[in-house]
Amino acid sequence: MKTTARAVVIGGGVVGVSTLYHLAKMGWSDVVLLERKELTSGSTWHAAGLLPLFNLSYSVGKLHQYSVGLYPSLEAETGLHAGFSQVTNIRLATTRDRMDEYHYYAGVARTIGVDVNFLTPDQVKDIWPLADMDGVIGAIQHPDDGYIQPADLTQALAKGARQRGATIYRNTTVTAITEQPNGEWLVSTDQGDITCEHVVSCSGNFARATGAMVGLDIPVIPVEHQYIVTEQHPDIMARKKAGLPEMGVLRESDASYYMREEAGGLLLGPYEVGAPACYVDGPAANSEYELFPDALERLEPYILAAMKRVPAFGEVGIKKVYNGAIAYTPDGSPIVGPAWGLKNFWLNEGHSFGVTAAGGAGWQLAHWIVDGEPTIDMMGVDPRRFGDYAGRGFLIEKNEEAYAKVFTVHYPDEEREAGRALRRTPCYDRMKALGAVFGSVFGWERPNWFAPESYALTEADLDKPDVLLNDNHPVVAGEAVREKWSFRRSNYFTHVGNECRHVHENVGIQDMSAFAKCEISGPGAEAWLDQLLTNAVPKKVGRVTLSYLLTDKGGVRCEFTVYKMAPQRYYLVSAGAYERHDHDYLKKAMPKDGSVSFERLTTSMGVLVLAGPKSRALLQKLTDANLSNEAFPWLTGQKISIGLAQVEVLRVNFIGELGWEIHHPIEMQNYIFDELMAAGAEFNIKPFGIRAMTSMALEKSYKLIPRELSVEYAAFESGLDRFVSLKKPGFHGKDALLAWQAKGFTNALVTMEVHGVTDADARGSEAIYQGDEIVGRATSGGYGWRVGKSLALAMVRPDLAVAGTEMEIAILGTRYRATIIADSPFDPDNAALRS
Ligand SMILES: Cc1cc2nc3c(=O)[nH]c(=O)nc-3n(C[C@H](O)[C@H](O)[C@H](O)COP(=O)(O)OP(=O)(O)OC[C@H]3O[C@@H](n4cnc5c(N)ncnc54)[C@H](O)[C@@H]3O)c2cc1C
Repeated sequence: MKTTARAVVIGGGVVGVSTLYHLAKMGWSDVVLLERKELTSGSTWHAAGLLPLFNLSYSVGKLHQYSVGLYPSLEAETGLHAGFSQVTNIRLATTRDRMDEYHYYAGVARTIGVDVNFLTPDQVKDIWPLADMDGVIGAIQHPDDGYIQPADLTQALAKGARQRGATIYRNTTVTAITEQPNGEWLVSTDQGDITCEHVVSCSGNFARATGAMVGLDIPVIPVEHQYIVTEQHPDIMARKKAGLPEMGVLRESDASYYMREEAGGLLLGPYEVGAPACYVDGPAANSEYELFPDALERLEPYILAAMKRVPAFGEVGIKKVYNGAIAYTPDGSPIVGPAWGLKNFWLNEGHSFGVTAAGGAGWQLAHWIVDGEPTIDMMGVDPRRFGDYAGRGFLIEKNEEAYAKVFTVHYPDEEREAGRALRRTPCYDRMKALGAVFGSVFGWERPNWFAPESYALTEADLDKPDVLLNDNHPVVAGEAVREKWSFRRSNYFTHVGNECRHVHENVGIQDMSAFAKCEISGPGAEAWLDQLLTNAVPKKVGRVTLSYLLTDKGGVRCEFTVYKMAPQRYYLVSAGAYERHDHDYLKKAMPKDGSVSFERLTTSMGVLVLAGPKSRALLQKLTDANLSNEAFPWLTGQKISIGLAQVEVLRVNFIGELGWEIHHPIEMQNYIFDELMAAGAEFNIKPFGIRAMTSMALEKSYKLIPRELSVEYAAFESGLDRFVSLKKPGFHGKDALLAWQAKGFTNALVTMEVHGVTDADARGSEAIYQGDEIVGRATSGGYGWRVGKSLALAMVRPDLAVAGTEMEIAILGTRYRATIIADSPFDPDNAALRS
């Protein structure tokens, strides 16, 4: 066995082999794959082989699109047929919400170049004559979609990799992975050791065991998944005899199953509620081609629904049931990218649609490893999108939920119930008593909006369709239902409007303790931050700036609020959802000479936002600090006392009103909260939530990662010119950004007013048209209550990015007139912020 390699890939399932293939394709021939048994003997061999392109995530959608393009090409390259049957795929809709989901998805699909058609029930019947169209209101079809033989695909990729010099060792188990003092990895196996620069973990159901070898708690626990294959059906055999095409893959989303032809019979795969997590402590050491006993009783309602839709399914006997492990993560998307806290250790794990995603995930991970960057935005699959909170107990609940919800309507405002309420800030109960309807980010509970006292929706309000999956609202034992999820304006719309108006006219309080926070200090702190981030680092104590960490290519990786607290002491704040991601990049970039220190403050500091025209008068009642504009201007911070509590107060906010962020020791939160509420009574202080904040941020054209800001867009395409100091000698990504600029940009960020909308605003990902040509995509959207307009932010062709340009935006299947307007439709001069 070789003793050295550039990269070692652990795991010979379809994902590991695809990673090996793509590393070799990018010119790394000195790469080795280690598989403990035979290739495909984990989950890959028994996969049903479906290749669903459908995915509401822009990044996962692109990975799937790449795979479906790659797989048919492998035969010409390797001589091995991967068994790709491009039979198309039809997803049925029996409810309006489902149809909205398909129309929303069509925007994602069209902007990434995936072909979709909408079909009438009659058109479906022509393609699938064995299906009854009772209750079907329409369908979406992917003409390029189909299924593949997973083992054949893996063998073709393996041959392609070997042809390019890669080596595969079967029956070789990795037993330990050790970081060497020189930064290399020593991979120990039962057949000998290999020293390498990079390790890529693609170990499927063994992910947590592999992670444990290097101290990583990888958030992957599999769930049982079953599919049933029937005996041959005479009608299908007759179709075959007549030379008719296969009917294709049929998905009845509202009944949570897929079905396709299989060797003259049918294959049915339900995603049921109640499927248990499995291999919680990993598979047994000798596990190979393993299946679990069938549990058909769990599938009963889905089987009955399938028999109703396709009576032929009930007319033949069951030939075989497959019950296997399918890897899951809390949100159902895979984990692809660098491991946190480790150098040159990569993860390609947690694949629940691994046959579909393998091509794209291997492709992008190979780019990341070889070039240092993926070429598409991978935030949706980044391993660092979960944190330490995602431990064993949380994963079991969350992953089972993710499995059960594969086919539920993926509402943009959905807030799932499992694994709640895990991370609560001290003022959680107070916010709850004020009517908070919570959402969850990075395990934290955050008020999304506030419902009036005793507010509850009735069964009639919920208007639940009569289908198996009708989860259009949260279900929390003992609690009234207060929101209905929708792609359209829903019941909370006007309440959010009231919050926006109230903050604009009076004063509001918001809990933003979930922010990621850290302190960077030490003799080298200022110089290090200055050469790392785009904006000039504040030189004067008390100054606050907004600054960005760019990618090697000049795209945007992270956004930080940077506050100089004291000489060589900087306080950095970034989005709560990206704590592990942002802090990992900072820590990995720190000098090794000890001149700079990093301290995580996320859970020791809370943040209360006080905003609105009356916020100064309120805060002044509680402090002897001078809060006047002269003494405490916008974009500065000070250490002040609020009553007894010493806090750091930053005069910044994300909503465009006069206001302060009060950063405080978390244990003082309730003291401060009570002081603010008591002093605020005379100003009519009221709480506001994330949804009001998002609406107000949109009116200011504020940008978000990974929507307007992403590795795919140059910082200047995203309009960050004000925050990029070209006067500085350098910052990470500067030269690449200038080179990108010299080459010319293909996108420009604009703000748009959408005309004629009555019940559904843009959400982001809608296609933008001029005539029949797609000229851009929305990145965010919603209703701006202060300006009284439906708004969208969008990336469009730069030549069109001129105020007054007329376009059209497709929202849920209807085209609306949209006009490019000047940025920051609310208060473009920032008068309120400076007031
Ligand atoms: C019933 C069922 C149906 C499915 N249908 C579909 C479908 O239609 N479409 C789809 O896209 N997906 C489907 N899936 C999911 C799909 O099977 C998986 O997502 C995919 O196979 C994952 O591939 P992988 O390479 O990540 O994992 P695996 O195939 O499990 O490969 C991991 C490999 O790593 C090896 N390994 C682990 N630890 C070590 C070690 N220490 N040393 C050496 N080797 C090690 C294992 O032996 C294993 O071979 C289905 C899954 C199930 C259960």
